[in-house]
Amino acid sequence: MNLILLGPPGAGKGTQAKRLEQSHGLVQLATGDMLRAAVASGSDLGKRVKAIMDSGALVSDDIIIEMIGARIAEPDARPSGSKGGFILDGFPRTVPQAEALDLMLGTQGRKLDYVILMEVDEPALIDRLSGRFTCRNCGASYHERYQRPKLEGVCDLCGSTDLVHRADDRPEALGTRFAAYRNQTAPILPYYRDRGILRRVDGMAPMDEVTRQIEAVLAGNAVAR
Ligand code: ADP
Ligand code: AMP
Repeated sequence: MNLILLGPPGAGKGTQAKRLEQSHGLVQLATGDMLRAAVASGSDLGKRVKAIMDSGALVSDDIIIEMIGARIAEPDARPSGSKGGFILDGFPRTVPQAEALDLMLGTQGRKLDYVILMEVDEPALIDRLSGRFTCRNCGASYHERYQRPKLEGVCDLCGSTDLVHRADDRPEALGTRFAAYRNQTAPILPYYRDRGILRRVDGMAPMDEVTRQIEAVLAGNAVAR
């Protein structure tokens, strides 16, 4: 099963992707996490993208396509038999990225099963992003009010104590990020709707209800809209 979780920054993509990893044995491919790891490592790629990411703008398509192309070809992102597959989180974010993904998958005889759009309004996104903190080791998301770790200061998933507020979750970067979503990412929706694989879930609902709606999609019980 190969999925895309699509939605604006703060929609809950990472939160749900981590749940699907555990419940369905899928692997989360989060381009934002990959880029943050590159920045943390001090690599050339990291140096090239840091300022762009901090501003809230999108990194160029060629950098992203090369990075995800290498990652998607790795063995853990390939299904074995009826099990496994990937969840794309934060990619594609532009029409050229969506087209490049199709090309990559097509040449490998693979396909997308569903593109799940998580709809959340802007006031809720601001509330979520301003209270978000994330694990620098595994990328898990927490929230000051909605999702605290079980043990204060310790990541539930990997045990790391490196929990931080992201630089691009500052109010100054949010306008640029929302504009990038509206102007560059939302235009990919018709691309998937026309192929009949787009499904919508109510991202405003509590986390467990969002999970339930995504499970209904995966079980084939959600209509295309
Ligand atoms: P994205 O990966 O789409 O940017 P995250 O999964 O990191 O979003 O979620 C953004 C913030 O909102 C996090 O602090 C997370 O704990 C919180 N969150 C996620 N889903 C919900 C939800 N359904 N209701 C309330 N808060 C949520
Ligand atoms: P995210 O963690 O998905 O919120 O991404 C954080 C930042 O990384 C974005 O604001 C962009 O600067 C960059 N980024 C992540 N994924 C992409 C992508 N698919 N295309 C362009 N830029 C990206």
